[in-house]
Amino acid sequence: MSTNADWFERARRVIPGGVDSPVRSFRSVGGTPYTVVSGEGAYVTDVEGRRYIDFVQSYGASLLGHAHPAVRAALHEALDRGTTFGAPTPGEVLLAEAMTERVPGLEQVRLVSSGTEAVMSAVRLARGATGRRRIVKFDGCYHGHSDGLLVAGGSGVAQLGLPGSAGVTDGAVGDTVVAPYNVVPEIDETVAAVVVEPVAANMNLVAPEPGFLEGLRAACVRVGALLVFDEVITGFRLGPAGASNHFGVRPDLWTFGKVIGGGLPVGAFGGSREVMAHLAPLGPVYQAGTLSGNPLATAAGATVLSLVGPADYEELGARVGRFAAELEAAVTSAGLAARVPTVGPLAGLYVAREPFSTPRNVVEVRAVVESDVYPAFFHALLRRGVAFAPGAYEILFPSLAHHEAEYARTVEAAAEAAAEVARG
Ligand SMILES: *Cc1c(COP(=O)(O)O)cnc(C)c1O
Repeated sequence: MSTNADWFERARRVIPGGVDSPVRSFRSVGGTPYTVVSGEGAYVTDVEGRRYIDFVQSYGASLLGHAHPAVRAALHEALDRGTTFGAPTPGEVLLAEAMTERVPGLEQVRLVSSGTEAVMSAVRLARGATGRRRIVKFDGCYHGHSDGLLVAGGSGVAQLGLPGSAGVTDGAVGDTVVAPYNVVPEIDETVAAVVVEPVAANMNLVAPEPGFLEGLRAACVRVGALLVFDEVITGFRLGPAGASNHFGVRPDLWTFGKVIGGGLPVGAFGGSREVMAHLAPLGPVYQAGTLSGNPLATAAGATVLSLVGPADYEELGARVGRFAAELEAAVTSAGLAARVPTVGPLAGLYVAREPFSTPRNVVEVRAVVESDVYPAFFHALLRRGVAFAPGAYEILFPSLAHHEAEYARTVEAAAEAAAEVARG
């Protein structure tokens, strides 16, 4: 039988670092990644036949769990009609309608193929619409890997301890201003857009403090800048109408990804009809994509949105709330310090040896995360059949397929894993 080590060895020969996205590499936790052959609901199975309760769930792309029967059926149906045409299709209209119906203020969306593309395009649109250069982003927020937004990024950029990326010129980031999360920055009339994760979910989980998002809204209005909520994670996960509705703060532009593709490559950005009219073919801001609005991706995404209503989000939030409290208690009783903050169904996880308070920005996150406990805890959990993300800057992504049995087993495994780590 081929092993994870065999596959990773082969992967490293033909793929840099053996991965197509750095967060998968186990660089920050050590060891060899498991190579997944299949997933079903809350579980994934690797090439060695080991089954894990999966809290990665494609970093949030999967809300219903893996290989949901209705999503598979929608995909089969779409597949039989052909995969891409380069002409308008009903599927993209259905997905755009489903999104705009759910999110108040979101009148139009343009579909793209990734979250990166969505944010990159939204920034271009903001600059084109305002005629201004500057972009404000927050330290530790991740907005995909486009040049101008990689500076001070979360997720893999934070995990690998990088300030940004080689290959990004000073010119590309010269118009990007980085501010600390949870502090409303002073901005002026040179600012085209303030881009923010309304719940920071790429520096582990950091909730917006009361007044932060409202303050950004007011600051943008004052100087005529556009407020961009990067809802690639929070969109259609935090609730049916995402973070803007949850917090009652309406941005000028939204970006989406992950959940809206139902596991296929999709992103979207949108806003009012007025602001979206700056885009080609109506306006001068160019943006395009051969596979944009892809029929397979829109079929999967629209199916997911059609299957989850307000009650499902409430149920998910309630389950995650109970799980978070139990997980924190289990790890703490076993002798480690832990915080499992939640915002609705979003849950973070901080573990350390010494007590700490819940981080409010990436500097505080870093102080906890650099305690080296997470890698040991991660591996102790993985050996017990529970897969958390291989990096301490990621959050947990429980799906609707995670039920009481999975949560209970995870809490039990976490107690054992924490005890093992605490013993040293
Ligand atoms: C994942 C993510 C992105 C990038 O999306 P990709 O599909 O990986 O390009 C952008 N913004 C946020 C908040 C994300 O979590």
